[in-house]
Amino acid sequence: MESQNPSQQTALAEIGEFGLIALMRDTLGEPTDDSIVSGIADDAAVYRVDDDRVHVLTTDTLVEGVHFDRAFMPLEHLGFKALSVNVSDVVAMNATPRYATVSLGIPQNISVEMVTTIYEGLKQACDAYDMHIVGGDTNAAHGLSLSVSVVGAADANNVVYRRGAQVGDKICVTGDIGSSYAGLKVLLRNRERLQEQEEDFEPNLDPFSYVIRRHLAPPAQLKLIREWADADVQPHALIDISDGLSAEVHHICEASGVGAQLYEPALPIDPETRNTATEFGEDVTVYALFGGEDYELVFTMPEDELDALDPQTFSVVGEVVAREEDDEQVMIQRAHGENVPLQPGGFDHFDDPTPPQS
Ligand SMILES: [Mg+2]
Repeated sequence: MESQNPSQQTALAEIGEFGLIALMRDTLGEPTDDSIVSGIADDAAVYRVDDDRVHVLTTDTLVEGVHFDRAFMPLEHLGFKALSVNVSDVVAMNATPRYATVSLGIPQNISVEMVTTIYEGLKQACDAYDMHIVGGDTNAAHGLSLSVSVVGAADANNVVYRRGAQVGDKICVTGDIGSSYAGLKVLLRNRERLQEQEEDFEPNLDPFSYVIRRHLAPPAQLKLIREWADADVQPHALIDISDGLSAEVHHICEASGVGAQLYEPALPIDPETRNTATEFGEDVTVYALFGGEDYELVFTMPEDELDALDPQTFSVVGEVVAREEDDEQVMIQRAHGENVPLQPGGFDHFDDPTPPQS
């Protein structure tokens, strides 16, 4: 038995979320079961159910005070988002979500009506993604939490991993990025002003309705991968954006043993996101690269295959290049022309969590 003296223990902040994942993999060891195609390595685990079919399995938890603030997160949206973020990970394997289980941690100040509202949001997401909740668990807890697991299905040949990027591929992003973070900024400022009961503060969130919706109820890009299947194309590498474009491109590069060249002017940013950054006096590129929670997809594909895709649904933001030195794995050409190394910089859950509020 190792000593449990707290003074000899290591704080999670010292190793961070990704360090913790690496530690779990070391502790568990490599999977020895032949049916496991991909374990702790991608957006979701992949295991074979027969010769041609696989299931993908993922789980994600939203915790009050860490991932959301009940002061501005409507419970219906919370239910929707909890399922959506899991569906996004299934979609990021190019698989179709099928079934979910939901575990709720319920504090004393949550009523039956509130739980019902959360489930209404979950039901909306089930309808939107054509899937079913088939079980779960409820527990007393100090703060509200929703833990969701989703199983998806795919033909074994159609699954797309992070590790498939090839030198020369274009790096593409669906939709627009940075908007969820812009929405969060607006919601946090609004909460602050309401709490301070600033005189003559009348919240007018209309100019921010798009970015707020993107933060509160992000849709997973299921429709898009269905279009890819119809067009009979699949990317070389695929990942969803939970921690910010920069972090996700680093994941693809790490898994694929390649580098990346990005172009700042090519980043798809909605005008409302730009306006929000301007209002806060901040650099909108920082929102786009490090904001996170966009739940858009990043994929790499040879240029000639991009013609098969609807050009309205994605933007080319860079290309896959041969891997250089480790600390210059991902470069970004800034709008003024300078080419600079980019660090992952995405939100690391153990670094600076919002203090829990109850
Ligand atoms: Mg993911």
